[in-house]
Amino acid sequence: MAHDEPKAAGPSRLVIRNIGLMLSGALEKPILDADTIVAVDGKITAIGRARDVDIAHATTVVDANGTTVAPGLIDSHVHPVAGDWTPRQNQIGWIDSFLHGGVTTMISAGEVHMPGRPRDVVGLKAMAIFAQRAFWTLRPGGVKVHAGAPVIECEMVEEDFKELASAGVKLLGEVGLGGVKDGPTARKMVGWARKYGIQSTIHTGGPSIPGSGLIDKDVVLEADTDVVGHINGGHTALPDDQIRCICEGCKRGLELVHNGNERSALYTLRIARDMDELGRVILGTDAPAGSGVQPLGILRMVSMLSSLGEVPAEIAFCFATGNTARMRSLDCGLIEIGRSADFVIMDKAQHSAGRNILESVRLGDLPGVGMTIIDGIVRTQRSRNTPPATKVPEIVGH
Ligand SMILES: [Zn+2]
Repeated sequence: MAHDEPKAAGPSRLVIRNIGLMLSGALEKPILDADTIVAVDGKITAIGRARDVDIAHATTVVDANGTTVAPGLIDSHVHPVAGDWTPRQNQIGWIDSFLHGGVTTMISAGEVHMPGRPRDVVGLKAMAIFAQRAFWTLRPGGVKVHAGAPVIECEMVEEDFKELASAGVKLLGEVGLGGVKDGPTARKMVGWARKYGIQSTIHTGGPSIPGSGLIDKDVVLEADTDVVGHINGGHTALPDDQIRCICEGCKRGLELVHNGNERSALYTLRIARDMDELGRVILGTDAPAGSGVQPLGILRMVSMLSSLGEVPAEIAFCFATGNTARMRSLDCGLIEIGRSADFVIMDKAQHSAGRNILESVRLGDLPGVGMTIIDGIVRTQRSRNTPPATKVPEIVGH
């Protein structure tokens, strides 16, 4: 398909060397004892100390200059519409701006802002298939946008889910944004989706904008979607006792979003930690939305949860990388052999009070992004959006 990069003669071989800190994205071992990564044709092939890794025949060499390499960030909750334009705030270039905030993969929770969005079954299926194709072909800035997330309506039958799946649709949009707002109908359709390999999420909490509705704990638990979408509300959160019921009443993903209630996000985080289930916590922005478009939204969530939620920064980064990748079966999100070579290279922001990047995040500052890499290809260098990084990586050879 058109998203493939033009092939050079011979394999493309990326070497990133002189890495000061390597964050794996994996909760069980968030920091790796390594300073070098090799990727061939967009996949990680070696991770280790420079003396132990074969760095010959590189087509691109990046000197990390002692900075921090992490898996590219994943935004688990976006609402794309068409290309790099959002009608919600009438902005162009928002996805590319997120790339400058370290986001290399996005998951659509429904293309619900499409002007004139069809609600009939044939129309909504057509729109989902179109969105899946269009975003996989276009990839603004190189960002992998997993879109084509239909919002279910009461008239749908099992055959519709089978048809969507065979056409390449892998996601449902937020249950509750369409006509299906009751537990039994949602559960039936989420079950059909799951049967055909389509993942699901749900709008949790009060209405987002005029026209959407309340989804409470009973509907969330009965619907049993794979991800409890914005459990901290989008923006209006459920009462704490209902959030606790959801956390304790299922084993599904607990998604915390930037465009949600921050106090409820911290409450959810504490429950997940007390249950020893931090692996369920994933992050999104829920952008574009009424509250805007936040290119640094995922970094802001990492910093907020680390500083106010008292979670080590290297753990908070896992919420935005490995946790999401595992829950959503993505081939990125972890620094691991065989995974996609999608990275964000960062350093502590200039003049942060923290002594290093982890301490700066723990103190509530944002890191500075110095480079993004997707599929082993350098996409951006010093970010135009983050505070400037103290040190930045450099391309030193081709
Ligand atoms: Zn929502």
